[in-house]
Amino acid sequence: MLLKNDVTRYHYLITLHTICSIAFIIRFIVLCTDLSSAKKDSIAFPIIILLLELGSSFVTFIANLCYVFLRYIGSILFESDRENVGCCSQSFAWNLSTLTCFRCECYLEYPQLISITRFNILIAFEIIRFIGFILACVCASRYSPIGVGYAILAAFSFIPSLWLLIVEYLHYRRLWFHYHPDVSSDEKREYDSHHLRFLPLALTNDQQTSYWQKSRCNKGNNCLSRNLYHVIMYHSSNTRYPPEQTTDGQIVIGFHQTSHASAASIAKTNFKPGQSGWIGPGIYFATSLDHTEFKANQFGAYICAKVNLGKTRRITAPQQWPSTEEYDTVYYQHPIGADEFCVHDPKQILSWIILIDQDPNKQLLEQRNILPLSSGKYIEDRLEDITYRGCFI
Ligand SMILES: [Zn+2]
Repeated sequence: MLLKNDVTRYHYLITLHTICSIAFIIRFIVLCTDLSSAKKDSIAFPIIILLLELGSSFVTFIANLCYVFLRYIGSILFESDRENVGCCSQSFAWNLSTLTCFRCECYLEYPQLISITRFNILIAFEIIRFIGFILACVCASRYSPIGVGYAILAAFSFIPSLWLLIVEYLHYRRLWFHYHPDVSSDEKREYDSHHLRFLPLALTNDQQTSYWQKSRCNKGNNCLSRNLYHVIMYHSSNTRYPPEQTTDGQIVIGFHQTSHASAASIAKTNFKPGQSGWIGPGIYFATSLDHTEFKANQFGAYICAKVNLGKTRRITAPQQWPSTEEYDTVYYQHPIGADEFCVHDPKQILSWIILIDQDPNKQLLEQRNILPLSSGKYIEDRLEDITYRGCFI
């Protein structure tokens, strides 16, 4: 996979954006020169091209300036994510600078659409520029030499722009389709059909907002969405998902924490039920991601799953768990809300997404004898969270 390294992508973006911006300034100067020297009857052609340029390249030029500004000055200007400077909040400023300010409700359920929107906006701008270029080519001979000069410049400017589009598309694919923590072997990766994908923990809401644990989903704890993408992206940390009642066949959200190596294995061959546990043998889930921190024995990878409880026995003390195989799930209603449940059959786990902590506490993992991936590292395919901080693209 090209552009495996996130830092490389970031360098590409900076270089290509700089080249595109310089090319835009030169084209703009050429157009203005053309306008100032044009006769009154021939002014329409450069004006249309100028408008097309302003509607496309100028917008990206301003967005890129805004991005650089926010990257270096943003943390000084905005103390928290929701704080406004003038009428502009930090999250809106980031959305503007990454061309993702156009948002609709569906993005909450499908956050991957945010990065594809940016890609589509970039394509739309290139199409607008291409129209300007065609117009310049058609009319170039009539307004030579400046018209010809502009057409040649515009043609060359498409090279970095197309390159930029390729980089952004590869990035989108890598983030949402090809991100795997385990890339040591070249063997074809075949995952269990219930495994949706791996995602880096750095991408989730709590890692992204400067206002710690403030969900970007305005519904907060009252949110009814049970879409795994939504849960992970916007309620990944302290939102709790304990069902008030547990009816047979109920589908709930569960959280499980394990090691990097076990997560890689689960992705390929599904969960393996444990032989014992304090509410019986099976696969254990907490009802919030935070609770896995003190419930798990293995650390480094978080699994968020949609689970069918099947036939459920709800208990209020651990010793009440039934030893018969009469129930599919034992649900332990914890006195202080740290509920957990144990499912007996992996088939009850309908789908899951695995979040990878890219900066695990290696010392702690080694002390507890938690094994790394087969390569000897805890993380091989790394996404640099600095390039995502403050925005989500
Ligand atoms: Zn929500």
